[in-house]
Amino acid sequence: MAYVITRSCCNDAACVAVCPVNCIHPGPDEPGYARAEMLYIDPDTCIDCGACVDVCPVEAIVADFELDDERYADLNRAYYASPEHADYPSTRPKSSPEPLPEQHSPLRVAIVGSGPAGCYAAEALLNRKALDVDVHIFERLSQPWGLVRYGVAPDHQSTKAVAAQFNRTVTRDGATLHLDVEVGVDVTLDELLAGHHAVLYASGAADDRRLSVPGEDLPGSESATAFVGWYNGHPDHAGRDFDLTGDRAVVVGNGNVALDVARILTLPVDALADTDIAPHALSALAGSCIAEVVVLGRRGAEHAAFTTPELLALTETNGIDVVVDGPLPDPDDIADPITRFKVELLHEIAGRAATGAPKRIRLQFLSSPVEVLGSTRVTGLRVARNRLVTDEHGAVRAEATGNTTDIECGLVLRSIGYRATPLPGLPFDERTATLPNQRGRVHDPATGTPLPGVYVAGWLKRGPSGGVGTNKACAAETVAALLEDYAAGRLPEPRAVLR
Ligand code: SF4
Repeated sequence: MAYVITRSCCNDAACVAVCPVNCIHPGPDEPGYARAEMLYIDPDTCIDCGACVDVCPVEAIVADFELDDERYADLNRAYYASPEHADYPSTRPKSSPEPLPEQHSPLRVAIVGSGPAGCYAAEALLNRKALDVDVHIFERLSQPWGLVRYGVAPDHQSTKAVAAQFNRTVTRDGATLHLDVEVGVDVTLDELLAGHHAVLYASGAADDRRLSVPGEDLPGSESATAFVGWYNGHPDHAGRDFDLTGDRAVVVGNGNVALDVARILTLPVDALADTDIAPHALSALAGSCIAEVVVLGRRGAEHAAFTTPELLALTETNGIDVVVDGPLPDPDDIADPITRFKVELLHEIAGRAATGAPKRIRLQFLSSPVEVLGSTRVTGLRVARNRLVTDEHGAVRAEATGNTTDIECGLVLRSIGYRATPLPGLPFDERTATLPNQRGRVHDPATGTPLPGVYVAGWLKRGPSGGVGTNKACAAETVAALLEDYAAGRLPEPRAVLR
């Protein structure tokens, strides 16, 4: 018997730290962690101790004999088929914490944002042994947890379970959560710096990237960000109105958010009724006429941005047929075992007969939008067919073949990535949409000089990538830099106490 990691893995790596035989990879300090779709247990090394199960905040780890879908065992094993992953040592290197200065008063840290990066940063500070710390978390909205509350799909309640851990963090001694306080509006950065040794920005990336094609602003062409916010009851989007009267929607982009919105548009409403979906969305979806959602990917199936566990879970979903539009590459031509697993799964889906389910998700590759069609509202999407070309640096990119097709639809949702927006009084890198930083220390991009006491973690630091738990290692790195500066006397002493 061995334990197996399944779909809801959040990549927080709490399991890695407790495994006595170092058989869960990649760990946060190992190559590939930042881009890993999930973590994997080596079934040949696992000694069935169960320690990882106890610490997993999202119940992602189960014994192999309890699996509902045995393909997760194959997926965990597949990771170790790669020669780079075949020979991990049986123990993990130990890191020693940063030395701390003698304290006469608590270290005061303001954290901007109560999403995953903010909560993990608070946890890292509060967990630091022998540190006297006051952490104040400022949240713009009246409800905390950011992306966990407003970004995770309502049918993924196990993923949302990490909120219980965040709640324990913000209710610990030394932590204070301030709701309905917008930094830059209700309180300025200068005021926060006057009251704290450090201000750590973890406010994420609330905006989205645009398609930049004609017709994008027609009614019926919307961002997936707004749609996700709408069905999750985000106050910025709850009042939106999405036209669900057409029989087809197109989602541009094929990451996990694209699969989320495609699934929410096609799931039988009964499957959503017992979730925390916003009531206005549930009643609108109950009256929806959408029978097919086309999910477009610019490049080939081997480059699909959705993760393999999300695709596995989609194939297990009752009431939805999943259809794959080829061509698909030959799995034997793919060296990376996880990518090969994904492509083999897509072949399996492509070979299935339709079940006759009332709704369908169509995965279409090698396709880019060129124009949103319609005069007063969306009636379709013109799509260029692409081929893959390899440039002189060996990078594979999509190139238009010159052939286009029109897909009739009443709703277009763009889902090609989140994007942070500039913050008052802080430098901003427009290319990466992040605060310029080194290991979380925000700096002046012209000189590279750190801004004293200003830090960043999460998507605002590294761009919008990784699962919820990927922010834990990211926040820990920033907190380590902050404590180094504290120990070295580089943090300005607070001049005032904020009320
Ligand atoms: Fe490691 Fe024990 Fe979990 Fe196996 S059951 S992966 S040995 S912590």
